[in-house]
Amino acid sequence: MNTNTQQSESSISAEAAARYWAATLARDRRADGTFVLGVRSTHIYCRPSCPARRPLRRNVVFFRSGEEAQREGFRPCLRCRPNEVAASVALVERAARALAEFREEALRLAPLAEELGVTETALRRAFLQVTGLQPRQLAEALRVRRFKALLRSGARIADALYETGYGSSSRVYERSNAQLGMTPATYQKGGKGMKIGYSFARSPLGGKVLVGATERGISAVYLGDSEADLVGELRKEYPRAELAAAPEREQQWVREIVQRMEGKTPQIELPLDLRATAFQRRVWQELQRIPLGATRTYAEVARAVGRPKAVRAVARACATNPVCVVVPCHRVIREDGKLAGYRWGIGRKERLLERERKAG
Ligand SMILES: [Zn+2]
Repeated sequence: MNTNTQQSESSISAEAAARYWAATLARDRRADGTFVLGVRSTHIYCRPSCPARRPLRRNVVFFRSGEEAQREGFRPCLRCRPNEVAASVALVERAARALAEFREEALRLAPLAEELGVTETALRRAFLQVTGLQPRQLAEALRVRRFKALLRSGARIADALYETGYGSSSRVYERSNAQLGMTPATYQKGGKGMKIGYSFARSPLGGKVLVGATERGISAVYLGDSEADLVGELRKEYPRAELAAAPEREQQWVREIVQRMEGKTPQIELPLDLRATAFQRRVWQELQRIPLGATRTYAEVARAVGRPKAVRAVARACATNPVCVVVPCHRVIREDGKLAGYRWGIGRKERLLERERKAG
């Protein structure tokens, strides 16, 4: 052991060293590039994710970079090639950007490598090193994500297929069951193929509350005077879904929603399963950030989502919120302080805000 090594070790805090050691034991790929570990007995240095056998802790010294390790006399490991990581990351980032634009049915590595000015072997190795995925697997993941985003923003399925480079719809259907959680059509065709179970509770605001949920999360929270009216609303929203009374299901969610209607602080996280455009989604997320007891104006929400002129579109997104209370659209009011409309009745909005003001 030389004195330089001791100096390097001391420049890394004990906490950081503990974190680095945990990442080393876990062979955590995400830690690659943040530090390297030198093995004193062999004078080899490795990436945290190196597949080689883990050295003894007392033989390990951490460095912030490969250059630092080399200055201390360590040589790069031939298995994990730690000196190539930075270059690999840069290459994969360039490749991922190119892949995101790929329109071809099948990903061919040769033209991609040529475009990036590297050999196929180098490209494949860089992918494995950085992402743990073959280029083809990564291309697939990128495509599915983009496809999903396009569908949610309201694109027609045929356009979304073309945009993401899927040649035929059957192929995306095969994959989407696993990766999208449901087949793409259910996002658009009135919930066809969706199974929504619903139950009722007495509403603290008067009348009834209906809670509808798929196995993935809550799709509907409606307020009204009668159970029949509420089921009618649900049928209108999801004309092609399979609807069934499920009074025993998700009682925990129903209890939580009723408590929130009483103005109580949220106790549990409620999973949502909503069909929405990208804009609706942004507005609804913003609404969930309005604290209990507070209100915002439509213009304030428009500014917060980065579309200051889209005040009317924000109002529409509020009016079409399918899960009232959970997404607190009732906390948005007019500039002049008036309540403006509420899909479930202005009186209910007033009572909700009053309870929340007392609680918040
Ligand atoms: Zn190694």
